[in-house]
Amino acid sequence: MATMDLEYLKAKLIMQRREIFSRQQNLDEGWQELSQRDIEMEEEAQKVEVSEIFNQLDLREQRQIEEIDQALSRMDSGIYGICEGCRKNISPERLQALPATPYCVECSDKYRET
Ligand SMILES: [Zn+2]
Repeated sequence: MATMDLEYLKAKLIMQRREIFSRQQNLDEGWQELSQRDIEMEEEAQKVEVSEIFNQLDLREQRQIEEIDQALSRMDSGIYGICEGCRKNISPERLQALPATPYCVECSDKYRET
């Protein structure tokens, strides 16, 4: 897969991930409260809050986040775009449409993904 496509899909995945979290954040009114004086604790606090938010997501959204994380780690390992079912390349059209998918069309039917 061309590096440019990979970069593009990676950006897309990160954006999708952010959107899922921010959708939840908007529902959670207590979210906006990271005060300035807690700046040293900020990183730790964000970690906690992210995992709290994660727990508030519905199962479908949690699964989306997991798929996105897995896709991102496959990108890091250089095995992105290879079907986890049959080890063939997933078509670029499918990756454009569903960048987080671990399966090609045939295996997706087989494993009933999404
Ligand atoms: Zn496959």
